[in-house]
Order: sequence, then structure tokens, then C-alpha cells
Amino acid sequence: MSAEPVRVPFIDLTAQRLPLAQEIDEALARVMRSNSYILGEEVALFEQEFAAYCDVAHAVGVDSGTSALELILRAYDIGPGDEVITAANTFVATTFAISYTGARPVLVDVDPYTYTLDIIQLQEAITPRTRAIMPVHLFGQPADMEPILTLAHQHNLIVIEDACQAHGARYKGRRAGSMGHAAAFSFYPAKNLGAFGDGGMVVTNDATIAEAVSKLRNYGQSEKYHHDLLGYNRRLDTLQAAVLRIKLKHLDEWNAARSAHARLYQQLLGGNGIRLPVEANYSEAVWHLYVIRTTARDELQAYLKERHIGTGIHYPVPVHLQPAHRDLGYSVGDFPVTEHSAGELLSLPMYAELTPALVAYVADTIKAFLADHVRLHAVG
Ligand SMILES: *Cc1c(COP(=O)(O)O)cnc(C)c1O
Repeated sequence: MSAEPVRVPFIDLTAQRLPLAQEIDEALARVMRSNSYILGEEVALFEQEFAAYCDVAHAVGVDSGTSALELILRAYDIGPGDEVITAANTFVATTFAISYTGARPVLVDVDPYTYTLDIIQLQEAITPRTRAIMPVHLFGQPADMEPILTLAHQHNLIVIEDACQAHGARYKGRRAGSMGHAAAFSFYPAKNLGAFGDGGMVVTNDATIAEAVSKLRNYGQSEKYHHDLLGYNRRLDTLQAAVLRIKLKHLDEWNAARSAHARLYQQLLGGNGIRLPVEANYSEAVWHLYVIRTTARDELQAYLKERHIGTGIHYPVPVHLQPAHRDLGYSVGDFPVTEHSAGELLSLPMYAELTPALVAYVADTIKAFLADHVRLHAVG
């Protein structure tokens, strides 16, 4: 009888949930017994706890990371005629949130090592219409915030951190989300802090902005049935808040485990001709994704899939080449780093519950592929 083959999923939500299952069941039962399903105590407490975690004064729970970004922009009254500069290499929610407000997303290419905003190109993209810069802390690594904040200060711009992949990351000791005017987090299930559905959070040190977002997420109400503005229904779900309060207590330990896995990948894969992710000297990344780079990406992905190793591609089509953004008028060749990397990036299994043995299995399988591949190409 042959043993079951080793399987390494890209992410394992069961492994995260099982140890917490009883505590979560009890919390969900508590909410249901209270019949308090909209905002209420669980959301208020989670907001306080998440604000403290991020070293900020205010947190406002919303229904997704996308809503968090959009409502921040609306709170700053950014809309038609305004430009918001962000990274070409990001998830489409970043640019969609800008477009929803009527403002124009102005893209700049990313640094080829960190895949975050290229500072020189950012500077060149600033026009009299620019209202805000939206750096994306991609893959769990903060953008280079100091020069961004300096430029923003010089040009009187708002800085909105897209921290949807960076819960707990640090930049020169400062928490992701605590450096700009405001920041957006997502609790999509696969994020470092994930709910049992959609969820998001706005964090800020600005009480006026926190107040504005609180109204925008809840029909523009400051008081029930008194609507000061045309707000939305974008509240963080109370059951999700109850789940997230439990998970937040484990976030630092989960992020530390991710870092350990990243170090092991780095150690085992180094010197094999594939490009490994670079952790900038300013950053303590939280490794939302562990993204390698190789010209043989598609072959490697297929090879790993045959051997039951899950991977992902973040992102196969850059935002400026998406049909949905055709109106922006960008074309192939506009952002070479982003376009080139789209064909070469591969995200390896990464989640806290991975084990050193599984990381080693993934690394060994990649090395076997590389050896085969080199041999094949030497002969061919
Ligand atoms: C996940 C994500 C978002 C959007 O979050 P949702 O909760 O899915 O709406 C925005 N920006 C980035 C970079 C993300 O990874």
C-alpha cells in the first residue's frame, strides 16, 4: 500500500479555524442570544482593539477593504476632477475604489524589488489635480513611506494607506496603517486577519475623518433616523466582528510563523536561479504572500500542481490592462516592471500553520523542477 501523497494547499483555513472553533462558536452564540446583529458592542470592542493594535486613535468597521478605501476617499471629499496616485501592481480593488468616487486613478510603476510605489515616478506623476497618494503595502511589505510622506507634505496631499495585505507589518518600527492620514484594511477570509466572510476597517488618527466614515457606512446617520448626508449601508457585520476579535489575539503569533516560513524558504531556495522576495531594510513584512519570480513560471506552477502543491498568481493581468479600466487610456508598455512581473510572479503556499517539513517539501520540489528544467534546456 502506498502512502497518501503529501499535499500542500496554497492556504489552509481549516488549520486556522480548528483550534479556535469552540471559542468562536461560543462568541457567535453570544451574539445570537443578544439578537444584536447590527454594529453594537462586538463591533465597538473590535474597533477599539484593532485601533490599539495598529497604534491609531480611531477604527471604523466597514463591510470590506474596498469600502474602507472608498469611504476614506469620500470622507476627504475626493471625487470628479481629482487625481489619486497609486501603484500599477495592485489588486483591482485599489483602483476601483478611486474610480467609484469619480476621481481618476493615476498609476505609477513599482520598484522591481519590493513591488511597491516607485518614488521617482510617484514624484513625476504629481499634478495640480492630485489630491491623494494611495501606497499599497503589497504582499505584506510596507511601501517606502518616508519619502511618500515627505512628498505629500510638500504638495499638500492626503496619504491613504492600502494596508489590506499588511495587518501588523511595520515600517521603521511603525505599524502599517498608522503613518498616513488614514488606512484601509480588509478581512477577506484569506488575508492575514480574515473573517468568515467579507469585512474591512478604516483606521485614522483624525477624529473628523473617523466620524465622517462612521456616518458614510451607516446611511449618513449621526442619530437614528437623522440623515446628515447620502450615506451607504457598509457596516461591518456583528458576527464577523465577534470572530475577528478572537482571531486578532493570535495575529502577531501567526505573522511570526509566516516570517519563520519565509526565512526557511529563503534559506532553502537561495542560489537556485529564481528570484526570491526582498525584505527592504526599512520593513518588518508580514508575508501575506511569498512571491518568487521565474521566467519558467507557468511550467513551474503546473509541475507543482501535479505534485499537489497549491500556488497563486498575484496578479496575472495588471490593473491598467483590465477591460474595466479601458477608460483610463493606458496601454501595453506603460508600466514595464508591472507588466513584466505579471508573467513571472508565483505565490507559494504561505499560512501560519505550515510546518518546516512542508516548506522543505515545497522547496525540494521546486529544486527538482529547476534541475529538470536546466537539463531540458541544455539538451534542447
Ligand atoms: C484584498 C484587497 C483589497 C480589497 O479588500 P476586500 O475586502 O476584498 O474588498 C484592496 N486592496 C488590496 C491590495 C487587497 O489585497
